[in-house]
Amino acid sequence: MDYDALFRSQLDALRDEGNYRVFAELERSRGAYPRAKNHGAGADEVTVWCSNDYLGMGQNAEVLGAMHTALDECGAGAGGTRNISGTNHAHVLLERELADLHGKDAALLFTSGYVSNWAALSTLGARLPGCTILSDAYNHASMIEGIRHARCDKRIWAHNDPRDLERKLADLDPDAPKVVAFESVYSMDGDIAPIAEICDVAERYGAMTYLDEVHAAGLYGQRGGGIAEREGLMDRVTLIEGTLGKAFGVVGGYITGSAELVDFIRSFASGFIFTTALPPSVAAGATASIKLLKGEEGVALRARQRAQVEKLRAALDRAGIPHLDNPSHIVPVMVKDPVKCKMLSDILMEDWGIYVQPINYPTVPKGTERLRFTPSPLHTDADIEHLVDALHALWSQCALARAVA
Ligand code: PMP
Repeated sequence: MDYDALFRSQLDALRDEGNYRVFAELERSRGAYPRAKNHGAGADEVTVWCSNDYLGMGQNAEVLGAMHTALDECGAGAGGTRNISGTNHAHVLLERELADLHGKDAALLFTSGYVSNWAALSTLGARLPGCTILSDAYNHASMIEGIRHARCDKRIWAHNDPRDLERKLADLDPDAPKVVAFESVYSMDGDIAPIAEICDVAERYGAMTYLDEVHAAGLYGQRGGGIAEREGLMDRVTLIEGTLGKAFGVVGGYITGSAELVDFIRSFASGFIFTTALPPSVAAGATASIKLLKGEEGVALRARQRAQVEKLRAALDRAGIPHLDNPSHIVPVMVKDPVKCKMLSDILMEDWGIYVQPINYPTVPKGTERLRFTPSPLHTDADIEHLVDALHALWSQCALARAVA
C-alpha cells in the first residue's frame, strides 16, 4: 500500500479547494511587537496583524522577567504530571490568581485552552449520570471534541439564541443534569453572547453554565475578568474557562468554578491527570501577566487597544472596505472566496510587509472566508493607515469589490 499517495491525494484536494494551509515562518523579536522578522516569502520584516497576543503581553518586560527568574530558580520542566511530583508552587499561585480573576473558589490549569475545554466537557458529560450538553452552534472545535468524547446526549442550539436554547431545554427531563456550553466573544465574527439571558434560561431549567472566555479574559472587565466580569455575571456562570495563550501572552488553559466542581474535574479528567504539568516559568509568566492586567496597566492597555480597534474600523469605512461590525476587538474583513483570500494575504505579505493569515474553511464556513485583524495597543496610527492604504489599493486592483458585492 502506498500510504504517501493516500496522504497526497487528500492534500491535493485541499489545495484544489484553496484551503491548504501555509504557515508564515516568523521570528518574534523581544520588544519589537507587532513587528516580526519573516523567514518565508515576502518582506524581511512584517507588521503582524492577526496575532492573538492581543495586548502584546508576550513581549512585556515584567512577564519576561518573571519567566527568567523562575527559569533560573526552578529549571526547565515541571518534573512530572500534577499528580506525580509535577505540582510546583508556581502552579498553585497561578491557580489562586485565576480563581480570584473570575471571582470563583478555585481554578485548575491545563496545558492549553484546547485541552481544558476537551477535558472538562468530556468529563462533565461522561461522569454526570444522564447528562445532556447543550452547545451553541458556533462553539470552538475544542468544545465540540470534548462533547463528542463525552458520548452523552447533546443538543445544538442556534448561535446566540436564548429562545432556541429554551426550546431545547424544555424538551429535557427536568431532573437530569444539563450543561449549557457557550463562548463570550466568538473569535471569527467577534460577536458577543447575551450571557445574562442565557443564564436566565439555564437557571429556569436547572442547567449549569459553561462559558469559554478565551477571547475575552484579560481584555474586558475592570480587572480583565472577561465579559462576565464586565456585565457583573461571574457568580451566575457555573464554570468559566480560559487560556493563558492569548491576552495573557504565554501558553496554557484553565477552568474556574466552585471548589467541588474544580475538584471533580481534577479527580476525573484524563486530559488533566495523565500529562506533564506546564513549566514553572510559564506559570510564573502567566501570573505576572494576570496581575498586571488586573491593575492600572491593564486598564490603560485595554483602553488603547479599543481606541486602535475603533480607528481601524473608521478607516476601513472611509475606504469602503466591508467588515463585520461587532462590539469586540476583532475586525473581520470579508473576502468570501478562499483563493482570493489567500491571494490578498500573499500580496500583503510580499508587497506591503503586512502579515494577516487568510481564514478559510473549516475554521469558518465556506463562502465566508475572511482576513481577521486584531489591532493591539502597540499598533500605531501609521500602522493602521498603511494597512488601510494597502487594502484599498488591492481591493480595486483585484476587482474584489465586484467579487464580494
Ligand atoms: N476556545 C476558543 C474559543 C478558541 O478560539 C481557542 C483557540 N483559538 C481555544 C479555546 C483553545 O485555546 P488554546 O489556544 O489555549 O489551546
